[in-house]
Amino acid sequence: MPTPNFPSSRLLALNQKPVKPDGSYVLYWMVSNRRMVYNYSLDRAIAYAVSLNKPLLVVEPLAKGYRWSSPRFHQFIMQGMKSNMHAAKNVALTYYPFVETDEYPQEGMLRTFASSACVVITDDFPCFFIPQFVRKLSQIAPCLSEAVDSNGILPIRGTDRLFTVAHSFRRHCQKVLPDFLSESPLSSPTSNLSLPRLEPLGDDVISRWPSAEPLLSQSDSQWMTNITTRLDTPSTDLVGGRCAALEHWRRFKHTRLDNYHLKRSHIDVDATSCLSPYLHFGHISPHELVRDIQDRGNIRPEHLRRSIVDGRRERWWQMPPGPEAFLDQLITWRELGYNRCANDPAYDKFETLPEWALATLNIHRNDERPYIYSIEEFDLSLTHDPLWNATQNQLRKQGTIHNYLRMLWGKKILHWSESPETALSIMIELNNRYALDGRNPNSYSGIFWCLGRFDRAWGPERAVFGKVRYMTSQSTARKYNVSTYLDQFAPEQGNIDA
Ligand SMILES: Cc1cc2nc3c(=O)[nH]c(=O)nc-3n(C[C@H](O)[C@H](O)[C@H](O)COP(=O)(O)OP(=O)(O)OC[C@H]3O[C@@H](n4cnc5c(N)ncnc54)[C@H](O)[C@@H]3O)c2cc1C
Repeated sequence: MPTPNFPSSRLLALNQKPVKPDGSYVLYWMVSNRRMVYNYSLDRAIAYAVSLNKPLLVVEPLAKGYRWSSPRFHQFIMQGMKSNMHAAKNVALTYYPFVETDEYPQEGMLRTFASSACVVITDDFPCFFIPQFVRKLSQIAPCLSEAVDSNGILPIRGTDRLFTVAHSFRRHCQKVLPDFLSESPLSSPTSNLSLPRLEPLGDDVISRWPSAEPLLSQSDSQWMTNITTRLDTPSTDLVGGRCAALEHWRRFKHTRLDNYHLKRSHIDVDATSCLSPYLHFGHISPHELVRDIQDRGNIRPEHLRRSIVDGRRERWWQMPPGPEAFLDQLITWRELGYNRCANDPAYDKFETLPEWALATLNIHRNDERPYIYSIEEFDLSLTHDPLWNATQNQLRKQGTIHNYLRMLWGKKILHWSESPETALSIMIELNNRYALDGRNPNSYSGIFWCLGRFDRAWGPERAVFGKVRYMTSQSTARKYNVSTYLDQFAPEQGNIDA
């Protein structure tokens, strides 16, 4: 068996089939950790390849027909593929990017590639179509298959407990995190790697599923010429891939991290990391971010306040407030969502809201709404509210919304939809259609938070919302300076009457 030290908490055996020692290669089917470093799946695949003395084939596929697929996501993912293509040059593995087109459908590719494998490794990810894909892989691979979890600092299958609020999840983290902080996927798994070379794949394989390398070598603007996707949502200026992710991180770390706790919600300041799309597509790893922050503060896991398990945000990390606040978002809030999706297959269903939220939304379901908009009106920013329209304009154009305004965006969809269930489906549709970081466990955390998940009942009880936390554009404009944001994203619509 490979690497005795490999953390078993990261492994999900997908079938009981044996390793095929006479296979031609170890296959890593890269579907969510789209990177060549800090990646447990790659570490695991390398370990198998070394112990079997077999070539390693890393396939990164991009299908054209998944729900919400569009040029926006294709461009971002393909920019990541380009980074991976460069990272795989001159190392002892074969990287094989594949981009599905009408001419070269992906159908049958996994089965064919898996049929020559000794063992198949893929990424574990608890959301969107990946859980179904993983189940399919377990059936069609003729050899041992494993899904490996690099999602966060805590293994997603480390507990089957569902946490209903951030406070209790933070308490859980305070108990178990120190043990996991000393574990990490490798920072440079391919350096000094020596493996047999892969024999060229057969013409029948290459002609059906050609490598995307020639396509990726063209300019980004040429990429979509022959590729159809479900939606035509245009690409944004945000560049995908590892270099861009690292550049965002470097800038944030040096100029914003120290004031993150003070500025994060300020609408007129760029105060956050903008890493969520890169985390979503796996271009950067939470492990490397946490390690970097710890190194910067010279903090080791043994320095953490193990004695404190009180669920409070402050002072547990023994760091200045900026890095502490950032780690709380990156670990507590981010991994709370992964915990929900991993342990609750109905994570995207209205009925899984907490009982108090279901009850109060139900009591108020027939309340008169001040406005009711259709999904098309929301989509095209045709509401009466300039600030809300600006948030939707930002989402449509840039594939993101400022975090504070994202909450307002969701809350007002609840307020102005004919029912809470309709509001939920509108939020899911627009978020996942436009947001570069959409289709992620955090998408469902954020959207469901607007309806009461991970929150508590608030007073006073209000029409439509009941006891669910309420927000308005006016209160937002009283708290924060929104004029620059309005000028940028809804210049023609006037100001907010705070
Ligand atoms: C209605 C709504 C929808 C949302 N949809 C998404 C989504 O589709 N994808 C997504 O990643 N996040 C979503 N969020 C959560 C949050 O808004 C974003 O994670 C954050 O704004 C990303 O910006 P950043 O990378 O600059 O974050 P930073 O503030 O720099 O934080 C660093 C990382 O911590 C995590 N994080 C930060 N805030 C949150 C949060 N509130 N909940 C969970 N994780 C968090 C993210 O991974 C983020 O990249 C949503 C929130 C709401 C209210």
